[in-house]
Amino acid sequence: IYILGIESSCDDTSAAVICNGKILSNVVATQEIHAKYGGVVPELASRAHQQNIVPVIQQAIQQANIDKKDLNAIAFTRGPGLMGSLLVGSSFAKSISLALNIPLIAINHMQGHVLAHFIDDEKQQKPPFPFLCLTISGGHTQIVKISSYFNMEILGETLDDAVGEAFDKSAKILGLPYPGGPLIDKHAKTGNPKAFKFTKPKVDALNFSFSGLKTAILYFIQKKTKENPHFIKENLDDICASIQYTIVEILFDKLKKAVNETGIKHVAIAGGVSANSEIRLVLKSYEEKLGWTTYIPKFEYTTDNAGMIAIVGYLKYLENTFLNQKTITTARLKVTEN
Ligand code: ATP
Ligand code: FE
Repeated sequence: IYILGIESSCDDTSAAVICNGKILSNVVATQEIHAKYGGVVPELASRAHQQNIVPVIQQAIQQANIDKKDLNAIAFTRGPGLMGSLLVGSSFAKSISLALNIPLIAINHMQGHVLAHFIDDEKQQKPPFPFLCLTISGGHTQIVKISSYFNMEILGETLDDAVGEAFDKSAKILGLPYPGGPLIDKHAKTGNPKAFKFTKPKVDALNFSFSGLKTAILYFIQKKTKENPHFIKENLDDICASIQYTIVEILFDKLKKAVNETGIKHVAIAGGVSANSEIRLVLKSYEEKLGWTTYIPKFEYTTDNAGMIAIVGYLKYLENTFLNQKTITTARLKVTEN
């Protein structure tokens, strides 16, 4: 079974071909245009998707070394995301499905992040059910219990900013370009995580909050640069390491709580922020320390990519979940909605 996956929910245009759960191609065109604006500009994102979508799909089919007539179905992201961006991918998916006379499958982007773990790949392991997934991305921070592919439950989530935003906004305060998450990760490698201390928020149950941290960092930097205008430059690595350390502590405090409360020790991470090297290291260390079995996605399946859309398409194909051409995209969609 060959499935073409199309992802266009935010600022990456991506297409992938999957064959029975194995990725044959996974092409991602990242939109550089947003860097100079310090964040994604929706209007520019839709335009860039329009430019990229045809070449990206052509490249995905070419790299997979198949003919488009070999495709059995088209899977596309129907939400959540930016409406203008989603429309480009969905309209294109509908046209191909019509032209090739093959079924259309709508995919929940957040299920894509979680179920990317089920891509057949020697560089990652498939978790058994039930397992817990800490989904950390640009728009989400959740602990999800996955009982089967399409039976999920949100055990806790952020009450305000997502962890990806916390990374990106902190980076912006430090004068780093968007998206700043990977840059904080890079600078943190040579910094002292205990150099500066930021207070952690007190949040009930398994929920998170990151907006207070962002404000704390802003005030801290303002105060320090008043004393020394070169403060950021002279301490960048230490600041990044300290911010990352605080974020990692916030995440794992709650993840440990979730494992204790559910007794589920199979624990995965997913989403763009799961590319973070410290988060990956800490999770891995809990295998020995706490007896968890951990599942860390292959790097290229962490940030937005169509491979994760294609795998969910394949799983839905096996369940015969097809759509008609009237299906619409939606900006808001919970991971629990199929
Ligand atoms: P969502 O999936 O919630 O709709 P999104 O699709 O925009 O949001 P992703 O592509 O999953 O988000 O993740 C992007 C986020 O991941 C950005 O905030 C980016 O800074 C962050 N990120 C990527 N790599 C790293 C890293 N190494 N360390 C920290 N954050 C990172
Ligand atoms: Fe995403």
